[in-house]
Amino acid sequence: MEKLIFATGNEDKMKEIRMILGDLNYEILSMKEAGIEADIVEDGTTFEENAVIKATAISRLANCLVLADDSGLEVDYMDKQPGIYSARWMGEDTSYTVKNQKILDNLEGVPEAQRTARFVCAIAAAFPNGRVITKRGTIEGIIGYEERGTNGFGYDPIFFVPEYGKTTAELSPEEKNEISHRGRALRMLKEEL
Ligand code: IMP
Repeated sequence: MEKLIFATGNEDKMKEIRMILGDLNYEILSMKEAGIEADIVEDGTTFEENAVIKATAISRLANCLVLADDSGLEVDYMDKQPGIYSARWMGEDTSYTVKNQKILDNLEGVPEAQRTARFVCAIAAAFPNGRVITKRGTIEGIIGYEERGTNGFGYDPIFFVPEYGKTTAELSPEEKNEISHRGRALRMLKEEL
């Protein structure tokens, strides 16, 4: 069976990837399982560029199909920040309680119609022959008025999905995978693997 490496150190992402791509004819490995250690500088200016930088760098090292993703939260009222800087925004070590509160403060008094936001995920697949494809998945929502829910991670407690009447931190992992930016991008990519 051919190998497929997903370029992440995040176990939650690996679970999601195995759930969605598990029925393909690939042996799915994390970087750790593939024995690859690499610190790649993500200096792209879009989600897609960063995903391609990661996937191609690892594919050159591993000489097999490599998938990588880059994701983040775009808050329209904040000119789509934190965007590609979502992980680094306010400092890599700053807690999400602090980051989420900062977004809530920035949107203090802002009416619902202007609280629109989305999670974006770009996934790149780099094949050993040099071919690269990218797919983008998004989920639209609004920034809530307080943190709600304890599932998920990052900005989930303030990301409210009107269709569900819940934040993504109040959805079960299965519910979130079905509608999430990453799930959508992965399913689109799967069609081309
Ligand atoms: P990365 O793609 O692993 O670099 O993650 C980017 C950052 O975007 C994460 O550290 C979170 O801050 C944010 N983010 C991406 N996806 C989600 C999500 O599903 N929920 C909450 N935050 C997210």
